[in-house]
Amino acid sequence: MERQTAASGIHRLAIPTPFPIGRVNAYLIDDEPLTLIDSGPNSATALDELERALALHSRRVEDLQLLVITHQHVDHVGLAGVLARRSGAEVAALAGLAADLGRARSAGETQERFGERVMHEHGVPAEVVMALRPSSAALRAWGSSVEVTRALKDGDELKLAGRTLTVYHRPGHSPSDTVFWDSRRRLLIAGDHLIEHVSSNPIAAPPLGVDGDYNGPRPQALVAYLDSLRQTREMDLERVLPGHGGPISDHVALIDARLRMHARRAEKIHRLLADGPLTAHEIAARLWGDMATMQTYLTLSEVLGHTDLLALQGRVSEGERGGVVRFAAS
Ligand SMILES: [Zn+2]
Repeated sequence: MERQTAASGIHRLAIPTPFPIGRVNAYLIDDEPLTLIDSGPNSATALDELERALALHSRRVEDLQLLVITHQHVDHVGLAGVLARRSGAEVAALAGLAADLGRARSAGETQERFGERVMHEHGVPAEVVMALRPSSAALRAWGSSVEVTRALKDGDELKLAGRTLTVYHRPGHSPSDTVFWDSRRRLLIAGDHLIEHVSSNPIAAPPLGVDGDYNGPRPQALVAYLDSLRQTREMDLERVLPGHGGPISDHVALIDARLRMHARRAEKIHRLLADGPLTAHEIAARLWGDMATMQTYLTLSEVLGHTDLLALQGRVSEGERGGVVRFAAS
């Protein structure tokens, strides 16, 4: 597999992150322009390992000519600013994400305040929300701003001398998820849109491009994600290169497994509501116990994704009292 990937001129550079997911994949595309897809978090360790991985391919940071960003998460984009400054490379990312990437700190704050609002609304105790503040500040520190010089739209083509990558916006895991399709090689560079060893969390996030507080309705991340997965399922692919872990050879089987898992989880949540209304945080605690406290926001996002699905099917309704939402089977 790895050899096949290398034969197509693409090298996987696994860069360390401080997060439970482990290493993140940056992909070096040996082409003209010399291209790096994603980069790693903004840390000296990540930069050091990236430099050594490039050296194994007789390349230096200064040789990079094009940086491509798959989505907004700091483990993928944190180093891009440093790499762009040192190399003078062009930076390509989804047009809707460009403004947020240019002001990473305030975009991070927008996400954080949105997250706190969602947690309050969905029954996470105030002291837990407070206790999470230092870790979201720490998370922001792994990011950094980068100026996008090449804004991409769904359907655009990134032309390199030896390949053409078609750009598709496939939101869900994050609002900015972008995948890159080499139709000739039947290859998809997918970021965190599809990962073999873990299901990609549909993390609750404000829409792209919001500067300051976002008070509008919560975007339905899982609904968007399942729609994106169904589109990817229809693609003719020999392999998928994900943002974490090794290449995926049977994307249809993996996507079908993910679709079944989400359908089962929605049924399970629906059954929990048979005993009476619950907040999303209470549902998370019943499904995952202590995990619901340690990974409050991820588990809450996961529950909300599924209550969104059930609400769309008309099987769950929500009622609000004292600013806290409870879901009931209808
Ligand atoms: Zn991600």
